[in-house]
Amino acid sequence: MNELQKAAAILGKKGGESGTGEAKARSTKAARQAALTRWGGLDGKKKRFWEKVKKGGPDECWPWTAAKFRTGYGAVMLFGRNQCAHRVSFLFTFGHLDPEKQVCHKCDNPPCCNPNHLFEGTMADNVHDSMKKGRRVYLIGAENGNKKLDEASVLKIRKHVADGTATILNLAKEYGVHHTCIRMLIKRKTWRHI
Ligand SMILES: [Zn+2]
Repeated sequence: MNELQKAAAILGKKGGESGTGEAKARSTKAARQAALTRWGGLDGKKKRFWEKVKKGGPDECWPWTAAKFRTGYGAVMLFGRNQCAHRVSFLFTFGHLDPEKQVCHKCDNPPCCNPNHLFEGTMADNVHDSMKKGRRVYLIGAENGNKKLDEASVLKIRKHVADGTATILNLAKEYGVHHTCIRMLIKRKTWRHI
C-alpha cells in the first residue's frame, strides 16, 4: 500500500461528519476509487489542501478558509467524502492517523489546522478537554459514541469504585476504555441518566 492508498484507507473509513452505514460505504467506495486516480497523487492533494489553510507563525492558529461543517470544523472533499480539515492536516503532517481516534484541538478553535495545535486523543480525552475548556457537550449514555460501555457496566463500575473493590485504572483496562472515561462516568459527567 503506498502513501496515497494509506491516506485513502484512513480517511475513507471515518473522519467525515456525514453518516456512515453500509449503503453509504458502498456508494462512496466507487467515488473514492475515482478520486484516487483523478488527481494522480498525494502531493497534489496536499498542495491543494494547504492552499486553503491560512498559515501563520508556529504558535498561531491556522484557520481553514474554505467550507465548514456546522460544528465549525473545516470541511474538505477528499477521497469521495467530506473530511474534517484538521484531521487531514494531522494525517498530512504526521503521516498517520488512527481512524478510531479523534483529533483534538489544544487551542479550542475548531477551524484551526495548525498541526502544532492538534493531538490525537480518544473520545474521552476530547470530552474531558471540552469540559475543561467549558464548552458544553451533550452526551447521553450509549449515544455518546462509546460502544464499549452500557448501562449495566456503568452501574457495575460505579459500584466497584464506591465499594473500593477495583481501581479506576484497573476498570479502564478491563473495559478497554481510557481512564478519563471511567472518571467521567463516576463524576456523572457522562451517563447522568442512570
Ligand atoms: Zn489553533
